[in-house]
Amino acid sequence: MNPHQPWKFTCKTCGDHALTVTRIWTILAGPVSERWQEWGPLEGDHHWHYEFKEKVEEKPDDDVETGDYGDFQEDDSDSEPEEYEIFESENNPESDEFYVNCANCDREIEFGWSQPNRGGRIFPAECSDFIPGKYWPEPRYLESWKQKHWLR
Ligand SMILES: [Zn+2]
Repeated sequence: MNPHQPWKFTCKTCGDHALTVTRIWTILAGPVSERWQEWGPLEGDHHWHYEFKEKVEEKPDDDVETGDYGDFQEDDSDSEPEEYEIFESENNPESDEFYVNCANCDREIEFGWSQPNRGGRIFPAECSDFIPGKYWPEPRYLESWKQKHWLR
């Protein structure tokens, strides 16, 4: 057993072994809100770190009459993820969204937290060391876990 990776995840769809943690948050800037995401690998100790961040692009509304929107358009032609940098914002942590996905095929994996209120470390349900009843579910999975009797 690799001491740096005491658990094992094997994606049942693609067979990959790596997991990605993503956080999405919204910044309210006057009438405009921006969504940003940052993501990075889940590590062997169930901590994770973010390696990239980028703005989540909303699909432009085709019905909008084409006028002079030049003042409102930013140059978003660079869609490559940027190197992670500290980004400070005033936001409400409770509105943050967290996702765990297969690093290869992007399949969403349910996960829980080692402490209440999204505290501590992340424990994906498909990791080999996942123990039902031990973790606090990500709120999005509360109903699903209730049905599976995975709640503490
Ligand atoms: Zn996969």
